[in-house]
Amino acid sequence: MKLIFEKSHPGREGYSLPADGFEEIPLDRCIPEELRGKKRELVEVSEVEVVRHYTRLSKLNYGIEDGLYPLGSCTMKYNPKVGEYLAGLERFVHAHPFSPPELVQGTLELIYELGELLGRITGMEAYTLAPAAGAHGELAGVLIIRKYFEDRGEERTRMLVPDSAHGTNPASSAMAGYRVVELKSNDQGTIDLGELEKAMDSGTAGLMLTNPNTAGMFDPRIDRIAEIVHGRGGLLYYDGANLNATLGILRPGDCGFDVVHLNLHKTFGTPHGGGGPGAGPVGVKEFLRPYLPSPVVEFDGEKYRLRDPGEKSIGMIRSFVANFSVLVKAYAWILSLGPGGLREAAEAAVVNANYLLAKLKDYYRPSYGGFCAHECVLTGRDFKKHGIKTLDIAKRLMDYGYHPPTIYFPHFKPYAEETLMVEPPESEGREVIDDFIAAMIKIAAEAEKDPDLLLEAPGATPIRRTDDVLAVRRPVLHYDDELKLKEEG
Ligand SMILES: *Cc1c(COP(=O)(O)O)cnc(C)c1O
Repeated sequence: MKLIFEKSHPGREGYSLPADGFEEIPLDRCIPEELRGKKRELVEVSEVEVVRHYTRLSKLNYGIEDGLYPLGSCTMKYNPKVGEYLAGLERFVHAHPFSPPELVQGTLELIYELGELLGRITGMEAYTLAPAAGAHGELAGVLIIRKYFEDRGEERTRMLVPDSAHGTNPASSAMAGYRVVELKSNDQGTIDLGELEKAMDSGTAGLMLTNPNTAGMFDPRIDRIAEIVHGRGGLLYYDGANLNATLGILRPGDCGFDVVHLNLHKTFGTPHGGGGPGAGPVGVKEFLRPYLPSPVVEFDGEKYRLRDPGEKSIGMIRSFVANFSVLVKAYAWILSLGPGGLREAAEAAVVNANYLLAKLKDYYRPSYGGFCAHECVLTGRDFKKHGIKTLDIAKRLMDYGYHPPTIYFPHFKPYAEETLMVEPPESEGREVIDDFIAAMIKIAAEAEKDPDLLLEAPGATPIRRTDDVLAVRRPVLHYDDELKLKEEG
């Protein structure tokens, strides 16, 4: 497939204006001064060439609207179109971030109401909807914890993060100035209470925990964990990226968590991936409300307004108020399901994952037995004897028309080997999951009888295997990079 630059013909135009009545501006004057004089590649193509080029490109992509997207830990659920419609309403779209509050009461009301709903869903008492992603929410949440201890004059310099944590947890703690102490999991892959007892001391700010954890295992001793952390003056942080397993069933606020972040773009029916906007609201218990970032939306019973929470606030963490369109979609999703629907969504996600696990566990033997939450961890370890790696299984799945699941994660005890984490969210029906299971079983048979099919996969995609290392070391971000690579052969 050609790059659009390679389709260029000198003199060809997308559209033309009438010859008369317009002053002709030399192209050079349209280009910022600092870029003038350099040879620029400007594409000269017709309108239909542009349309066909990008339509073709869009078809090379795989998205949730093509089929199952079972990427473990990412909760790639279908996002109802009504959310897009509502986020596109003219008065939302044209609300300028600098509009005086009296002109955008509806916009502020939605932000306020969504915070209230998330509070009820999670058992937290105050929310900020400002953070733009899960990791951004973590940073805001950990900064809140830090400010709280500074305020109390307590010197706590360490943050506990289990070895099962998502990589953003230690990163956020470190960015907020904490020394990260890794907690080793027990042989069930959950928190080792003995390790926690040893590590949680008066110099430690608290524990960041995902429950169910990143392997889809629910830690039932959360009450004891909270007791240990609080007993030594620490705070408990909830990474809510896995809320899809407990939505409407269990509230982190009731489990003793003090700070929570959610990923609206995972759990709450808003699109995600491809670099688009996300939202990572942070909820806190009442005693942490003064530390929320600025501004917060307030309601006095009559009017909504934006307010700075005061000198204890961690300050602004982004420009303006929030990634608003994401909030509209999440709000619509919550209201369209209602309390019973939210619970049903979580239950369906958990049933889907357990159904898949039950059907595939004899082919892709898990390293740890029992039930899972909303995602399951399988392994490809039995195929190593045929020279097949989990990577080959994932590539072969692309030939069957699926986005591969997450591979080589989790990698903490007891999940060390050739893991494959599958998350079939609630928006997937029985037939879709059955078809996926059938493909996985076929691949298991191929691995034994015809391993080359896997080793040479994918065969049905526009490109075969990419050179992952080269892609990281020499990313092609611009046509010039591409030309240089071509020159170097
Ligand atoms: C996805 C995820 C995050 C990070 O969220 P982003 O929105 O991608 O920044 C954090 N923790 C867990 C467990 C996750 O799955």
